Amino acid sequence: MAQFPQYSDRPRILVVGGGYVGLYVAHKLQKKVKAHGGIVTLVDPLPYMTYQPFLPEVAGGNIEARHAVVSHRMHLTETELITGKVTAIDHQRRAATVEPADGGEPFELTYRDVVVAAGAITRTFPIEGLRDEGIGLKTIEEAVALRNQLLERIETGSLMAPGPERDRALTFVVVGGGFAGIEAIAEIEDLARAAVKKNDRLERSDIRFVLIEAMGRIMPEVTESQAEWVVEHLRARGVQVKLNTSLSRAVDGRLELINMADKSPSDEFETDTLIWTAGVQANPMVRGSDFPIDDRGRVRANAELRITGDDGPLEGAWTAGDVSAVPDLSGGGVGGFCVPNAQHAVRQAKRLAKNIYAERYGVGHVKQYKHKNLGAVAGFGQYKGVANIMGFGMKGFPAWLAHRGYHGMAMPMFERKFRVVINWILSFLFRRDTTHLMDLQTPRRQFREAATPPPKKQKAPVSDSSASGSGNRDAYSEPKQPEGSSAKA
Ligand SMILES: Cc1cc2nc3c(=O)[nH]c(=O)nc-3n(C[C@H](O)[C@H](O)[C@H](O)COP(=O)(O)OP(=O)(O)OC[C@H]3O[C@@H](n4cnc5c(N)ncnc54)[C@H](O)[C@@H]3O)c2cc1C
Repeated sequence: MAQFPQYSDRPRILVVGGGYVGLYVAHKLQKKVKAHGGIVTLVDPLPYMTYQPFLPEVAGGNIEARHAVVSHRMHLTETELITGKVTAIDHQRRAATVEPADGGEPFELTYRDVVVAAGAITRTFPIEGLRDEGIGLKTIEEAVALRNQLLERIETGSLMAPGPERDRALTFVVVGGGFAGIEAIAEIEDLARAAVKKNDRLERSDIRFVLIEAMGRIMPEVTESQAEWVVEHLRARGVQVKLNTSLSRAVDGRLELINMADKSPSDEFETDTLIWTAGVQANPMVRGSDFPIDDRGRVRANAELRITGDDGPLEGAWTAGDVSAVPDLSGGGVGGFCVPNAQHAVRQAKRLAKNIYAERYGVGHVKQYKHKNLGAVAGFGQYKGVANIMGFGMKGFPAWLAHRGYHGMAMPMFERKFRVVINWILSFLFRRDTTHLMDLQTPRRQFREAATPPPKKQKAPVSDSSASGSGNRDAYSEPKQPEGSSAKA
């Protein structure tokens, strides 16, 4: 196995994953650790942290994609950054295997302390066709692709004659009625409404939005009456909300739905856009480590955020965020553990940074993590939302304001907050931007077309006299090939 060519030989704190937890831990520790002669190293396949609560707004075109991510290079200036994936951790040897993002030779990094912060991945089920037809909403690239797909399908659909092909193009489906799914369908419905206003060939009623949820209610984070209000609100906006319903097949874009009560078929229709937001699971990368894992695939931790086995905490091993099972000392959570959300991830990261520093350098004290969930806020497009803050419920415009206020504040780093807020003001002044970018998958198409010589003109039968002279050959056509040579394809 190769050795990383220029890695620091200082005592290392290795941070695996640069999302909420990784970004905050590295940011809090980088200078302090360097001052003590150590180094913080962050490994992530992405060069940025994604502010995931903004993904629905990126898909809806209310936030510029680059503003919803925080560049590691810009903000972790005292951290050793490696763009790659950690594929294995051998804590016995204090060594991690890193696979560079550019596909280069894997190499080994040794460390003194490790922070496992690789988050979660989209959780799917073995549904035939889902892998080929579905798209998640966990990355900035997915959010950008969704926005473009929606606007492209609306534009293309507007040129089609009414019929099954147009219905398929103009049907948008979200599976999963949690926060992410509800925010996603509400934001893209708002975007579709704005796009249709500018397109004389379509009415809003030509576009179909379907939300599929397997349980009898949506959004477990808000009260039952708020959840019912959200369903009514979405239905009033023309979204078909199908509760107690599950997707059973999705081959070639033909969706088959079943009723959860008796598993009987409930509906069948076609779509080009199937968005999957039915939950997350701890990143399976931890299975390539010698750390203790619980039955849900999470790294086992104690309240001090130390990785903990049956014989107690492991020296020099820490974890937090969606990848970990951290006890919820406030008495909340699910099964006694903190739920996977940003509220916990950020606060755990700050506590974890203090705990490592106290343990390694003797400054401060190692303390247990304890945080009572403050509630939840959700935005449903311009001026609409729902919130439950410390048991106080809000709906509509006040909830939308609370949502914007909270996330405007919670976005890490001042310059990012500023960009997002300026963008919101611009959207308010000039309305939602419904431009869709073309050729994102094929950016060289136009250049290749320009660089391709035009096809040779078919020569018309000519008289002997013109064939012998220079004639009227097109100035841009390829020169004649000598007899016997073959033209390049
Ligand atoms: C659409 C959506 C909306 C959300 N809205 C809210 C909300 O409104 N409120 C809220 O509290 N929470 C919300 N969440 C949840 C919240 O975003 C997560 O709980 C939070 O991001 C968890 O932080 P984390 O650091 O554990 O993981 P992440 O932020 O996911 O970071 C994990 C990092 O690890 C990296 N990584 C992955 N594999 C490897 C590897 N093998 N090696 C190295 N690095 C790796 C990833 O690239 C990533 O950068 C939302 C999530 C989604 C998807």
